[in-house]
Amino acid sequence: MSASGSEILNIKGLSKVYSKNDARALNDVSLTVNSGEFVSVIGPSGAGKSTLLRCINRMVDATQGEVTFDGQNITTIKGKALRKVRTNIGMIFQNYNLVERLSVLENVLHGRLGHKSTFAGALGLYTEAEKRDAFEILDTLGLAKHAYKRCDELSGGQKQRVGIARALMQNPKLILCDEPIASLDPNSSKVIMDHLLQINETMGITCIVNLHQVDFALQYAGRIVGINDGTVIYDGSSQAIDEQHLTDIYRFDQEDPPRQSAQVAFTGAKENAAAFELVAHA
Ligand code: ADP
Repeated sequence: MSASGSEILNIKGLSKVYSKNDARALNDVSLTVNSGEFVSVIGPSGAGKSTLLRCINRMVDATQGEVTFDGQNITTIKGKALRKVRTNIGMIFQNYNLVERLSVLENVLHGRLGHKSTFAGALGLYTEAEKRDAFEILDTLGLAKHAYKRCDELSGGQKQRVGIARALMQNPKLILCDEPIASLDPNSSKVIMDHLLQINETMGITCIVNLHQVDFALQYAGRIVGINDGTVIYDGSSQAIDEQHLTDIYRFDQEDPPRQSAQVAFTGAKENAAAFELVAHA
């Protein structure tokens, strides 16, 4: 694991234009993330948040710019080298991306696939130690009793906890979360965000979380990166963000509730954050 506070991710001049529709999703984005940070990326729909995360783990190839992860320039690496880097980067999706007809345990064990030979992976061969680790992780996430259930029997919040468990099974240095709570009710959302924060704080795993909900972002993340139209509008602490920043981040957004109620969200979130701090430090 990288030393806490050292640079784990460096993004330099990243731009992405999707060739099929000429959509410019990212425009000269530069960011540095240190090991152990909990960063939330916010912005209206279509701002480029998802594209940014996908360029980091190379699910999407940038048109221009560079991504350096853990000291290695990964912008154009391929094949085995790319697979190795990806073992260090967990990804959590809005729609969970689980194999629904398989058990919770099998889905979690899939997190080890990047570490195994294709042969062992194809046969679903896992060591006893890997199975023990999977149970331990499931236990931490309150899912041990569901280990043998099929994923399609679980609630959305439980499925997302399986997604987190699968990412942890990779033993990653960085976890990317693309709208992890967008499909969940407020209670389940809180459970998921609490788990992510705990993973960040106790295991030192760096987290970058795309969020639609400004109040959750301000409450949980130490640092906010605000994007509008593919450009970074704000990059700083969640404490220092103000109403004008939020208005700028959500400008031109005709549909998004966060923009229409930016002021309400901001005031509410700051109050929540204050209450949260009181509880956290009680
Ligand atoms: P966000 O995550 O903030 O909603 P996205 O990164 O999904 O934003 O999208 C940014 C822009 O890129 C949007 O204009 C979107 O329509 C476009 N886009 C995203 N993914 C694709 C894709 N696979 N093909 C073409 N255009 C895309």
